[in-house]
Amino acid sequence: MAGPDRKILILGGTGEGRLLAGLLHVEKNLKVITSLAGRTSAPELPAGEWRSGGFGGAEGLATYLMAEAISLVADATHPFAATMSRNAAEACRQVGIAYVRLERPAWRRARGDRWRPVESVAAAAAAIPARARALVTVGQRDIAAFFARADTRILARMIEPPQIPLPPHVDLLLARPPFSLDAELALFREHGTNVLVCRNSGGDATKAKLAATRELHLPVIMIERPEKPAAPSAATPEGLRSLILELA
Ligand code: NAP
Repeated sequence: MAGPDRKILILGGTGEGRLLAGLLHVEKNLKVITSLAGRTSAPELPAGEWRSGGFGGAEGLATYLMAEAISLVADATHPFAATMSRNAAEACRQVGIAYVRLERPAWRRARGDRWRPVESVAAAAAAIPARARALVTVGQRDIAAFFARADTRILARMIEPPQIPLPPHVDLLLARPPFSLDAELALFREHGTNVLVCRNSGGDATKAKLAATRELHLPVIMIERPEKPAAPSAATPEGLRSLILELA
């Protein structure tokens, strides 16, 4: 059971991170701080305390953990935020505190799916057939990998605009999940999209695009998840809450 005034650091930036903060915030004896990377201009804020911005690698995070007397780090970052997870596991090892993770289940191929798995964004960009019209949902940080594919038409959907100008063959679509199947089908049809490039992020908010490709018999270039460090984990905020209450 949790002792008095134990401090938990949630590494957030996801819906699950916010849900977890809401669940832990109401626990007596626990103080919850959520850390956000600070990349989003108007982030949805969690319950409890929050802070924003990088720590300065594993060393910087270890210093922060000691200064704040954190007793457990709950990593609820996005499945593709691999650097933060690596740093967090290492910092917790250095400081000697528990590191647990929310492991959002990956999407699984269903009957009729035409997925081509690839290991990286660069491999995904190379795998788009010439003259294809691709919907690309890799986020603003990775869109530059598609700039050399001027032999294709790219519809780049993301939440925040990229910091760099886009070449003429890349059209920008700013949109915030969740997306419905009807909206995804309409988007594919409107743009004549004939291939989807996405990351295996998992979760419900953006999975309708996969149902749309199934319905339209379109191929998907699926970027596989990066490895994250081994850690006690749970698939849901509720599951991670139980684990944390056992460990904290
Ligand atoms: P990343 O590549 O793993 O991390 C890069 C650096 O950003 C980290 O080394 C760290 O800087 C800083 N950082 C990342 N997450 C942080 C957090 N929660 N609090 C404080 N600093 C953080 O991460 P990313 O892919 O850029 O993702 C950044 C944030 O956006 C994460 O919170 C993630 O959950 C969220 N997010 C990411 C994606 C995605 O597609 N990658 C999608 C949705 C949400 P220092 O080394 O200086 O500590």
